[in-house]
Amino acid sequence: MKKEITINVPDIGDFEKIPVIEILVQPGETITKDDSLIVLESDKATMEVPSPENGRVTKILLKTDDSVSKGDAILHMEITESDTMEADQPGGTPPKTTSSDSSTKNVKAENSQTVIISDIHAEVVVLGSGPGGYTAAFRAADLGKNVLIIERYTELGGVCLNVGCIPSKALLHAAKVITDAQDIRAHGIIFQDPKIDIGELKSWKNEVVANLTKGLKTLAKKRNVNILTGIGKFSSENTLSVTTPLGEKTVSFDYAIIAAGSSSAKLSGIPYEDPRVIDSTGALKLDDIPKNLLVVGGGIIGLEMAAVYHGLGSKVTIAELTDGLIPEADRDLITPLQNIIEKRYNSVRLKTKVENIAAKQKKLAVTLSNSNSKVVENFDKVLVSIGRTPNGDKIDAKAAGVETKRGFVLTDNQMRTNVPHIFAIGDIVGQPMLAHKASHEGKLCAEIIAGNDKAEFDSMGIPSVAYTDPEVAWVGMTEKVAKEQKIPLKKSVFPWAASGRAQASARKEGITKLLFNRDTQKLIGAGIVGINAGELISEAVLAIEMGADSEDIGLTIHPHPTLAETILFSAEIAEETITDLYLGKKI
Ligand code: FAD
Repeated sequence: MKKEITINVPDIGDFEKIPVIEILVQPGETITKDDSLIVLESDKATMEVPSPENGRVTKILLKTDDSVSKGDAILHMEITESDTMEADQPGGTPPKTTSSDSSTKNVKAENSQTVIISDIHAEVVVLGSGPGGYTAAFRAADLGKNVLIIERYTELGGVCLNVGCIPSKALLHAAKVITDAQDIRAHGIIFQDPKIDIGELKSWKNEVVANLTKGLKTLAKKRNVNILTGIGKFSSENTLSVTTPLGEKTVSFDYAIIAAGSSSAKLSGIPYEDPRVIDSTGALKLDDIPKNLLVVGGGIIGLEMAAVYHGLGSKVTIAELTDGLIPEADRDLITPLQNIIEKRYNSVRLKTKVENIAAKQKKLAVTLSNSNSKVVENFDKVLVSIGRTPNGDKIDAKAAGVETKRGFVLTDNQMRTNVPHIFAIGDIVGQPMLAHKASHEGKLCAEIIAGNDKAEFDSMGIPSVAYTDPEVAWVGMTEKVAKEQKIPLKKSVFPWAASGRAQASARKEGITKLLFNRDTQKLIGAGIVGINAGELISEAVLAIEMGADSEDIGLTIHPHPTLAETILFSAEIAEETITDLYLGKKI
């Protein structure tokens, strides 16, 4: 027997008047239980309201942009009595969720129909929406999978877009304009000292980030990738429990991809509660430009932030515990950078430990020690940038049986964890913690999930870049590692002092180093220090991936005058065909 019922907005937590951003069904359409009817979007979450019944839509009772609350009518639907019976009976039409979790909530709607709104099922659930997560989600959707992203913040993009790669590059760009203007004084062009409108700079940086994160939402929508805002933790090997602004939800999945990233590492004994002690996220907020800034940690992130604040006018001191800046790079790449920043900054102190930070009323009194001395110095702000720790211990991986080690989720070369239908990618699986590694891994596991089970991570080199001034970039094997592994090495180094373009840019401090395997002549590693090194390194990445040797690169015509020519010249050194340098007579 047929009857018409009204479907109302179910209990959506404490939220009132949430805008309807999309109506997914139309009159005459036959729908099955759990099909999504409308999409609601508050400033905290986007959620789809599923149908509690099988039936045929007869009338839509609201329109896009209406604001709705619990109990408001959505549509009229014609159902047959047997549909209702079947749906409600155990063993009847199975709900879309496969969750067996007892915490799954059945929420009563106003008209007393039972609506399973807290249960969501997706073929692929991606935990985290950073470059790893959103790439995996989008690729999986493009390959035909039904995908849900769980993200604790309302914005997509993770660390990279919101508090990492992108805002830091916007501020580095601003700082570089200032330092370039200062440097050109030596060549007869005198600009006035800059007036910095910090509010304007901040809003431009925020706008850059907002444009990109908004773009991600559009890309997700176009692919029908659903997004659930909330903190997800595993509750079993097929379910995640998600704390959302609308209450606790249980999400079940066929496959999960863990892309929950990493967090700033903390140093013990530091008064983090003092707003003058900041991490990279605090530094990127750009609340003010401190007169005296101490950067604790001489790694890539610390040095990039130092370049930003130096450019904006801070007197910068760097304290690094080890005996070198950016320890993972070859020393010959770091020397030109160090020479320049030692002149620009207040001081660069190696083998220096921060013993203590005492928060005084006007300053932070920092005790710095090295093997010879212990001094207390005052700073207006201290940026602690001592690395990042993976978030693997914060997601209850154990509940799914997923193995972790010191916060890293363990995976094989298919990014598969020990639980075969759960994958992990990005910072949470290991070094290097870089956005392009995360996105590459994201694509890989999406393809494996979609059926390409032969695919595996077989990249021959993940490039690293410090966007300092000058930039430092390297890929493949470093000289240090090649020597440790006793690889037969042919090294060629082209000094930028002999590059027309570097001279014409007044930046001749750089070098381009290529490392070839002496037996095969193939390129196995490359390192560049100099302006735009981060752009230039891609040629070497491609050469390594393509198995190019020194002849391939040396016979490739490069445009003149460019910094890219330094790669050609370096290959020509290996080939002993260079004419832009004199290496002595060979015949
Ligand atoms: P993340 O980007 O960390 O994203 C993880 C996401 O998961 C986050 O959005 C987080 O909110 C979410 N999440 C975590 N736990 C949960 C949970 N339980 N439930 C729901 N959501 C959760 N890399 C580069 O390659 N180039 C650069 O220039 C560069 N610059 C950087 C500058 C700074 C200041 C910083 C801090 C990092 C920089 N990085 C850079 C590193 C880069 O940001 C990371 O390698 C990259 O973001 C890692 O991507 P991911 O997808 O693994 O994780």
